[in-house]
Amino acid sequence: MGIDSAQLQPDLRSVRQVLVIAPHPDDATIGAGATLAALAAGGAQVEVVNITCGDKGTVDPSQSPKDLVAIRQAEERTASAILGLSAVRFLDFPDFAWLEERPVTLAILAEIRRQKPDALFFPDPWLPDEGHPDHRTVGLAAAAALVAAGLPHVFPEAGPAVPSPFAVLYATNRPNLFWPAGPFWERKRAALRAHQSQFPGALPDLLMGYWAEQSEKWDGGDGPKEALRVVSALLMHMAPQIDV
Ligand SMILES: [Zn+2]
Repeated sequence: MGIDSAQLQPDLRSVRQVLVIAPHPDDATIGAGATLAALAAGGAQVEVVNITCGDKGTVDPSQSPKDLVAIRQAEERTASAILGLSAVRFLDFPDFAWLEERPVTLAILAEIRRQKPDALFFPDPWLPDEGHPDHRTVGLAAAAALVAAGLPHVFPEAGPAVPSPFAVLYATNRPNLFWPAGPFWERKRAALRAHQSQFPGALPDLLMGYWAEQSEKWDGGDGPKEALRVVSALLMHMAPQIDV
């Protein structure tokens, strides 16, 4: 067909630069913590960019949103260190505020053009049961930024055009890659526990059990895996797929 198969089927194991887009300061851990820890342990630079500040993430009416931002940033830094990631950043868009897609796309595009990642992790905005507007908007913005990365006339203020990274969608129900978590499963559990404001008490263990069960239903019982969807940049536009 005249197209190198590597362009259509990128190999996540070969990445050197990874940019992770997270709507909130816990989503990278939840969505792909074990995979990111494994890639970092293998020598890749893994940087997480948290789009919103997470100031609405509480069920406690007495919790000050302003204080919560500081708490969640500290938790995210701790989790990121547990996972062995290279850097974590915070763009501080407001949480649960029906973000506009355009400014978020510009912000993500600037991150892509600065870091020039091989792989861009972001939440699957087409997850059918996703109820959180930040996850839908940030996912769509990340997909648009990926497509725009190499187009110099799209948001030139975001920096010089760079080759588009391939997409790694997390929190997806259309996985095409089951990443064996191995020893990094327990690192993910520890990182999840670090997000105490979000996952108090037994919640980390409950969720880890649920995710392990889900991956077993999808891909067998030989240890917990993270379900991801890897899509080449070439297939992120006008490319219907029936592979899942
Ligand atoms: Zn989130």
